Amino acid sequence: MFESLSDKFSGVIGDLGKRGTLTEADVAEAMREVRLAMLEADVALPVVKDFVNKVKERSVGAEVLESISPGQAVAKIVNDALIDALGGAGAVPLNLNAAPPVPILMVGLQGSGKTTTSGKIALRLATRERKKVLLASLDTQRPAAQLQLQQLAERAKVASLPIVAGQTPVEIASRAMDTARREGYDVVILDTAGRLSIDEALMDEVRQIRDVTHPAETLLVVDAMTGQDAVNTAKLFNEAVGVSGVVMTRMDGDARGGAALSMRAITGAPIKLTGSGEKLDALEEFHPERVAGRILGLGDIAGLVEKAADTLDQEEGERLAKKMMAGKFDLDDYASQIRQIQKMGSISGILGMLPGMGKMKDMVDEKKLDTTIFKKHQAIISSMTKGERKTPDIIKASRKKRIAAGSGTTVQDVNKLLKQFDDMSTMMKRVNKLGLKGLMRQASA
Ligand code: GDP
Repeated sequence: MFESLSDKFSGVIGDLGKRGTLTEADVAEAMREVRLAMLEADVALPVVKDFVNKVKERSVGAEVLESISPGQAVAKIVNDALIDALGGAGAVPLNLNAAPPVPILMVGLQGSGKTTTSGKIALRLATRERKKVLLASLDTQRPAAQLQLQQLAERAKVASLPIVAGQTPVEIASRAMDTARREGYDVVILDTAGRLSIDEALMDEVRQIRDVTHPAETLLVVDAMTGQDAVNTAKLFNEAVGVSGVVMTRMDGDARGGAALSMRAITGAPIKLTGSGEKLDALEEFHPERVAGRILGLGDIAGLVEKAADTLDQEEGERLAKKMMAGKFDLDDYASQIRQIQKMGSISGILGMLPGMGKMKDMVDEKKLDTTIFKKHQAIISSMTKGERKTPDIIKASRKKRIAAGSGTTVQDVNKLLKQFDDMSTMMKRVNKLGLKGLMRQASA
């Protein structure tokens, strides 16, 4: 997700950052490239126009162009405009502020990932917020749908409404709410039927269920891979039944990212959660500022710290992140990071979160779990002296040969690693300059 967009954005913004002076024409030229990149990523045209105009307006003028580092100033403006397009800073949390049982209505087209997402949300609320959750499938269209949800509930270790044959969706919804009231559930997740396309019958059914349950959240599930169709679907759903939030699934795929960037402006509905895999724990909060960081190649350190905290050594994760932010990250830290990454699972997903590492994704074959590149890097680093690991700049040609021989690699491999590390350091400095330190505090709070 966002890969080609990120390649282009980080290229254009990186170039600007390197220049000592900038003219209006330089900014205009950069914005031409940004515009093309956004259109290629399937961002809706009005959103692209608005974005480019905003950046141009804020960039021209003495204050920015004549500042000490105009490139950095423009990068900050682009970063802010991206955050705006993605919905504004901060994740929008699920609204569970209602007397229990709180109904959450799940809507969307068939195949969007609605049922899976219902299970993911149930698991998240049950484990992180200790809610007593009841899952209920209102899908009477597909015979296997109710069974599928029941199995998901078992995997998530939450309750599901017993299946009663012959009931209408509205009857099942009422029964779910009655059961929840009687048995003291905190949250009821109602998974409605999907259709292959939007039709009046589907919308009617959703409206009827909405009117008997009064949901606190009506969450629309859309597939990021469908691009602008996802945005159009959201627009239609919002107009017909009212949508309080969007869950965008398949963020783990190679969707170009246009849907995420267009959603808020075109539909008005915030993206609240994203799905990044088939497993039940592959659900994340949507933080526009972190996504913007990833698009600009600045990584997502806050997201990384959270993920590390969930899966492994929290102290180590925080220690590394702090060193990154302080610009004191060295090759020993990088080796420690590789060990953590290997423990964390989805490698390409994590690489996108590391400043300057996005491009390495191509070198790692996720499916085969081919992490040879990391093993190589670990071998090379362990053949260096302590001093070399702290300040790699001191490594001269003769030492490179020895390090290569000692690690069973080539001088070219050693050079590649050093170049990679250099890129990371540059990106980390840029992250610091953009003042994203607040993110760290937020993540470790
Ligand atoms: P529904 O028809 O909308 O209820 O869709 P399902 O929940 O049955 O999901 C359809 C398929 O998409 C299933 O194979 C899911 O495992 C898969 N799926 C759902 N969410 C994601 C996601 O975020 N990433 C990936 N890769 N697959 C997903």
